[in-house]
Amino acid sequence: MIVIYIKNHKFHYEIENLCRVFFPYRKIIVKTCKKVIEPLNDYICTEIIEKENKSSLIVRAKINSTDYFQEGNVEKVRENYESECERVLAVLLFNILCKATGILPPWGILTGVRPIKLMRKLLNELGAEKALNYFKEKLLVSDQKAKLSFNIANVQKKILDLSTPKSFSLYVSIPFCPTRCSYCSFVSQSVEKSNKLIPEYLMFLLKELEYTGMIIEKLGLKLETVYIGGGTPTTLNADELKILIEKIYSSFNMKTCREFTVEAGRPDTITREKLKVLKALKVTRLSINPQTLNDKTLEEIGRRHTANQAIEAFNMARECGFKNINMDLIVGLPGEVYNDFVFTLEKVCKLNPENITIHTLAIKRAASLMREENSLKNKQAEIVSNMLDFANTQLYQNNYFPYYLYRQSKMLGNFENIGWAKENFENYYNIHIMEETHSVISCGAGGVTKLKDPYSDYIERVYNFKFAYEYITRFDEIIFRKDKVLMFYDKL
Ligand code: SF4
Repeated sequence: MIVIYIKNHKFHYEIENLCRVFFPYRKIIVKTCKKVIEPLNDYICTEIIEKENKSSLIVRAKINSTDYFQEGNVEKVRENYESECERVLAVLLFNILCKATGILPPWGILTGVRPIKLMRKLLNELGAEKALNYFKEKLLVSDQKAKLSFNIANVQKKILDLSTPKSFSLYVSIPFCPTRCSYCSFVSQSVEKSNKLIPEYLMFLLKELEYTGMIIEKLGLKLETVYIGGGTPTTLNADELKILIEKIYSSFNMKTCREFTVEAGRPDTITREKLKVLKALKVTRLSINPQTLNDKTLEEIGRRHTANQAIEAFNMARECGFKNINMDLIVGLPGEVYNDFVFTLEKVCKLNPENITIHTLAIKRAASLMREENSLKNKQAEIVSNMLDFANTQLYQNNYFPYYLYRQSKMLGNFENIGWAKENFENYYNIHIMEETHSVISCGAGGVTKLKDPYSDYIERVYNFKFAYEYITRFDEIIFRKDKVLMFYDKL
């Protein structure tokens, strides 16, 4: 266990998150206090002492019986005094933790989910060279990750420039799956138990879509992308998919829609009949997610489909005319060694999908799946790092380039998820949702509507109920909450 003391500042969130990067498996307790009596056990104390013109920032720590100390200053006249205090405190702590653990995290003091958003902001404010230097020198991001962020921000620019103040994306949630994967942290009810809810759920979802369509029309907003996600939307049968998509067409003006994605996540839910429906209704992009092409792992993580089924589903989608397909893979699945990932990625590259998304298993899932000693878990982080290096080389060699990136707070080895695309096959929706560049209006259980003020960074969130049964039984409240979309745009 490590206790973090926070003295005379409010940056406990950043300090705790940074500690978690170095100690992902240790219990961390955060205490805000006025006085610290140095404890015998491991601790970290971060403190700001305010003086007339400048403040002293102090970090003291005891880690594995060794004492550490770092000190810095921030002038009070700076207009960004607060954020500079936060940054400098994080840098001091980072220096201590690197020394104490021998770990050098590639993202430096950045613990946020959206590094590309920050890079874009810096590019706008400082220009290319200074933005890159800021990442490296002030945030201590590695040269490789800084360049990666810079390149992705540049790739995204041409897509983000197409968005106007009236633009929005539509997300439709189908929170059902055939079975639950063991690593899943997503809201998804097992269809085995709850598929009886699907017809009723769909009925209410159609109502929400219709009502939302009326609001959008009133506001004169412009639909840019549609994404049906979940769960696994192809858990619905062909007729249900048809009804759902036709309702989207009848409720929204689709003339401005550049892209229509359906997540057909689990290959065991994909049939030729469903694919034909999706194709006939002009779905432009499919996501077919094998996660791994090792049957043993698939069985272990409860996917209930084989590697061959994933390949067959992909080929079937091609036969049905889909020219834009994504495949999701996960690095760090339990029991997988380096060569398992190499095998999977090489096989997927041979299929030549337009997008490949490489996810890193979230650490809390990894931890509960692995049940191993910390040293073994750290070893696993090293294997994951090697797998990601291989993915990097292999994907560039096969003419994919990274186009969106996000991090989770507890990822194995503190890495990232990266979407790779062939040229001109970047997924617009993924960029908009990650970069928070225009509003995303969500329908269905678990959906979160994010209303973005086009003239500032302000974002307002409107939550739908998480579970399908709540969504059905409290549907009146869903409709009531949708009016917040009207109120938000009326205020602009
Ligand atoms: S398919 Fe995805 S959403 Fe469904 S249970 Fe598996 S991981 Fe969760």
